[in-house]
Amino acid sequence: MEEQEKKILCVGLVCLDIINVVDKYPEEDTDSRCLSQRWQRGGNASNSCTVLSLLGAPSAFMGALCGGPVADFILEDFQKFHIDVSLMSEHAQCVPPTSVVIANITTGSRTILHMNRNLPEVTAEDFSKVDLCQFKWIHFEVFVSKDVARHFGFLSAEAALRGLYGRVRQGAVLICAWGEKGADALGPDGSVVHSDAFPPETLVDTLGAGDTFNSGVILTLSNGGGLQDALTFGCRVAGRKCGFHGYDGIAENSAN
Ligand code: ADP
Repeated sequence: MEEQEKKILCVGLVCLDIINVVDKYPEEDTDSRCLSQRWQRGGNASNSCTVLSLLGAPSAFMGALCGGPVADFILEDFQKFHIDVSLMSEHAQCVPPTSVVIANITTGSRTILHMNRNLPEVTAEDFSKVDLCQFKWIHFEVFVSKDVARHFGFLSAEAALRGLYGRVRQGAVLICAWGEKGADALGPDGSVVHSDAFPPETLVDTLGAGDTFNSGVILTLSNGGGLQDALTFGCRVAGRKCGFHGYDGIAENSAN
């Protein structure tokens, strides 16, 4: 298979995001209205596929899908973005994993409540059956998110990378994005590479900024680009994404 035709595979979650757009974060135990409300296909791996597709890279998703009308909505949306779902397994009896999101357009913040009751993860056995030759890159988790880094008590991307590097396999590159501070990467030579963020003119929606960043980085690296270029491109695309709702604007702007 020609290298150009090979896809980028993202393995992980697809879920339903119910997004409530507000201009003021609600007080507890109050009853208020949203500016708008929408359903969106979500989940880290599924979002990264969307962004890759919009950047012109063929992508494939591997993960579990629930049953019922939510599954129909998700499938239709995967199709809309020409994402290969032939490795998706259907579990008709499972409840859709769902995130309720409060997206604040005044601050750009996104607050997420997630629940996955019984949808299974991909197993090593499932993965062992996949013909890997069709892919030029396979994404699970290597990237460390700011939320995970904070959970471990780290206060910056660089501190997280230095603190967690001992846990990854020798020779690995560890990457950590940190919101408006941009992103850092640490490779086997021990030096930290950094890119500043590229703030949009108006901050609108940071939901999926991390997944967008990951896709920009993966796309650059999978095309043979260097780590600095990958971080810079990842931050550029993610920053642009923060200027509008959802992901569609990435395609319109990807030439800039
Ligand atoms: P996550 O979605 O995992 O919380 P982050 O908030 O760390 O992701 O953001 C990922 C990337 O998105 C950052 O490295 C940065 O490039 C971009 N980004 C996120 N928030 C902003 C922001 N407020 N301004 C500019 N860029 C941002």
